[in-house]
Amino acid sequence: MAELEGLEFGKSDFVLLDEVTMEQFMENLKLRFEKGRIYTFIGEVVVSVNPYKQMDIYGKDAIDAYRGRELYENPPHLYAVADAAYKAMKRRAKDTCIVISGESGAGKTEASKYIMQYIAAITNPSQRAEVESVKNVLLKSNCVLEAFGNAKTNRNDNSSRFGKYMDINFNFNGDPTGGHINNYLLEKSRVIQQQEGERNFHSFYQLLRGGSDELMGSLHLQNDPTHYVYTRQGAAVSTASTDDRACHKAVMAALKVIGFTQEEIGSIYKILGTILHLGNLEFTTDGENVQLASEDCIRHIADLTATEYENVKKTLLFRTVATGGGEVIDKGHSENEATYGRDAFAKALYERLFAWIVSRINNVIEVKNYNPALHGKNTVIGVLDIYGFEIFDNNSFEQFCINYCNEKLQQLFIELILRQEQEEYEREGITWQHIDYFNNQIIVDLVEQPHKGIISILDEACLTVGKVTDTVCLESMNNKLGQHPHYTSRKLCPTDKTMEFHRDFRIRHYAGDVTYSVEGFLDKNKDPLFQDFKRLMYNSADPVLKEMWPDGKLSITEVTKRPLTAATLFKNSIIALVDRLACKEPYYVRCIKPNEVKSPMLFDDARCQHQVAYLGLLENVRVRRAGFAYRQPYARFLQRYKMTCEYTWPNHLMASDREAVEAIVVQHGFEGDVAYGHTKLFVRTPRSLFTLEQERAAL
Ligand code: ATP
Ligand code: MG
Repeated sequence: MAELEGLEFGKSDFVLLDEVTMEQFMENLKLRFEKGRIYTFIGEVVVSVNPYKQMDIYGKDAIDAYRGRELYENPPHLYAVADAAYKAMKRRAKDTCIVISGESGAGKTEASKYIMQYIAAITNPSQRAEVESVKNVLLKSNCVLEAFGNAKTNRNDNSSRFGKYMDINFNFNGDPTGGHINNYLLEKSRVIQQQEGERNFHSFYQLLRGGSDELMGSLHLQNDPTHYVYTRQGAAVSTASTDDRACHKAVMAALKVIGFTQEEIGSIYKILGTILHLGNLEFTTDGENVQLASEDCIRHIADLTATEYENVKKTLLFRTVATGGGEVIDKGHSENEATYGRDAFAKALYERLFAWIVSRINNVIEVKNYNPALHGKNTVIGVLDIYGFEIFDNNSFEQFCINYCNEKLQQLFIELILRQEQEEYEREGITWQHIDYFNNQIIVDLVEQPHKGIISILDEACLTVGKVTDTVCLESMNNKLGQHPHYTSRKLCPTDKTMEFHRDFRIRHYAGDVTYSVEGFLDKNKDPLFQDFKRLMYNSADPVLKEMWPDGKLSITEVTKRPLTAATLFKNSIIALVDRLACKEPYYVRCIKPNEVKSPMLFDDARCQHQVAYLGLLENVRVRRAGFAYRQPYARFLQRYKMTCEYTWPNHLMASDREAVEAIVVQHGFEGDVAYGHTKLFVRTPRSLFTLEQERAAL
């Protein structure tokens, strides 16, 4: 509990509210935001409100103030949490993780960068070269991942379109020795399509605006994003806040620092070029045969992918199918199929490029030559920056996956926060009462349960041979889930006019109701890509490209196993993520977006209140207070309050610090409000502490 700010800034820990009501919570949050205090604690959780302006609170002075201090010794800050996680890791050899959550634009990625900067700043005091290089790669990887994984959306000019979990490994000295990045569900549909006002991934514009004449010439590209279908649809070609040209330089430099070879960097840009050319490919038809409107693009694509012109052309216009009799024939595409195939290919190229970049970074930062016998336990701090809950006007498969992920993380939050509290009480030998909270396991089950859950139903529909449409799939969901308290649909509830279309279904998420349109679900889940494209890429003379397409090795008759569906792959990766987090000591940053217009002045009460509600912050305060709002080791408590009691000032003569603390408690008459643990004093209500604080201040 931070006590160091004046009351004019509001309560620096929500646990200190007089009453835990939404009104008081919001009043405090707003007051602090308006006074430029963007961080507030709930115990060890940091609540952050995006200031939408540069704050002078991250410099060297701040780093020094937080370094090695206890959480409550300084005003609330990301650095306090980063330091707490670091201390737990270093002093107690605990693996820790920092989970950053909040909706799009709430400030998660910025927070994760400040946290990493802090950790980089406080480690390796002796400036050992190999540690410096690890830190440098870790920091530089952000720049590359943002270029390829972020985009301008209507909510955020630099929106992360993938989830990221990064482990940082430390040696017994507490210095970083390496790390590992996991990425989750890149929003690849953006490669081929952007909504009004949005952009494709930054990487394309950076190349098109920043690429040198020589590079652009070799890629057969023009320096003009409006020339390419894939980069011009959203009509938001330039963003005020991103300087694409400067970023291109920075990314090039970062790639080099990380250790990408010239050849690899060349291949990355060739793939971007290939995608842009693909987007400009047009097909025509005379009613029977599909033709290419222009063959120039094909020539460029063949050149950039180091493949044969004829093969590229054939792959775009035909697919190989195995007949029942084991014969292999070329079947011509319809115009729709050709367009669909082209787009699927462009998306897959980008997705594999992104995954490959992540894996290359991982190769570089992987901990090498670590011998636990020699170097002690290798400990980890994990930082999770993953998409927050999304409710759009039109919610599709992507929102479904993202919101499921948030249900899982919420479940973990509930479990860990409660578990941690309970464990501490047990360790200290204190009894406490359980508190009720909404357990969202029922929603998690609705989505992921085998056989009955939505993902299973989707998968079943994808596996069924024949024409299973989205609507048929919805029918099946209605039949199986009609009774579920968190599921409904237009069909099941025809009077509900908020669901506009027959293809709508709705999940009552912990964060609110979300109506999904089932249209496109099956296709996105199946995520088909004609095998011919995979083979084409596998046979490329470019070794980097070939490496990205190992599954192109199989011939058509060998391809029998169906790949896992997108939803199942995502589910498996999220379950693995949760398992990873669950075995670590968690720290939380809960980010709030103050308004929809990126204004540093505006605190939109309704929007903020909604976020506070669904992030479960009030419950968080209640849980924290239901047991004991405040706890402190005896020695520290004494140090802070010994001047308020005649028996302890200036020094006590009692047998132990614990007895001295008891003397203070008795003198102030709040014996009924505390419990004595083995090493700490626990105070139930903050009121007792106010008294002490006031008395201390009056002296
Ligand atoms: P998404 O889910 O879309 O990736 P996000 O939660 O990661 O969103 P950020 O990209 O971190 O959001 O923040 C959005 C913008 O808000 C930043 O580009 C920056 O302009 C501003 N911002 C966020 N945090 C801060 C901060 N601490 N100081 C100053 N500006 C900030
Ligand atoms: Mg982000």
